[in-house]
Amino acid sequence: MPLITTEAIVLHAFDYRETSRIVRLITREMGIVSAIARGARRPRSKFGAALDLFAGGEAQVTTTMGRDLHTLTAFDATHARPALAAALDRFAAASAIAELLLRFAPEQEDAPLLAAATDALDALADAPAGGAAAVALAGAWCLVAELGFAPSLDECVACHRAIEADAMVGFHHRAGGALCSACAGEAPLARKVPPDARAMIRAWLGRLPTSPLDEPSVRAHQRLLREFLEEHLTDGGRPLRALAAWERHEVDA
Ligand SMILES: [Zn+2]
Repeated sequence: MPLITTEAIVLHAFDYRETSRIVRLITREMGIVSAIARGARRPRSKFGAALDLFAGGEAQVTTTMGRDLHTLTAFDATHARPALAAALDRFAAASAIAELLLRFAPEQEDAPLLAAATDALDALADAPAGGAAAVALAGAWCLVAELGFAPSLDECVACHRAIEADAMVGFHHRAGGALCSACAGEAPLARKVPPDARAMIRAWLGRLPTSPLDEPSVRAHQRLLREFLEEHLTDGGRPLRALAAWERHEVDA
């Protein structure tokens, strides 16, 4: 049973039986990993509060060949991110980012993806009051790019013609991005995306500073992101519950 020490972030955690917890981590060495932390709920557990959601640190995982559930033998939380649980809008956004990673990240080494996840959660923890959604949208699109399916914004996904920056475009989720006006006419179900929204996604993907978003724009961007992700799911179409709850503001006080 090889022991692996790896940088990791807790993306999901739930109680298991009387004394244990099962966590799902994104790790540098193994990508997404499920592991049981035996005894984590005992009063003097060595895990303490280390396994809180969105905490980052160094995990020791004992892997078992042929098993999907490994054993977490230690977790040294160096980066607790309590700010993400302290405000409901941040918590909902962080949960959406965690869901994006759990559903799309590979079960293999991906250091750039872990770095992008770290950046996204850190930026969200530092987000100004009322600005969490826009910061999370930026982080989410950067993760999509890191996962290898960034949308095409400036070239038609059907005919590859360049699209003017000021054009209203149709957005074809399954094809993976913007359609020119000619191709959009043949795809009447495509979501319409105005030029300022397309510019915003372009800026997020380029990690450029952006101006604040008003509430209707936040909702429109959340819907666009969720619909885009739903078209790229490969694991049987279970709904993206955290993304949908974030969009509905269900966890708002
Ligand atoms: Zn076209």
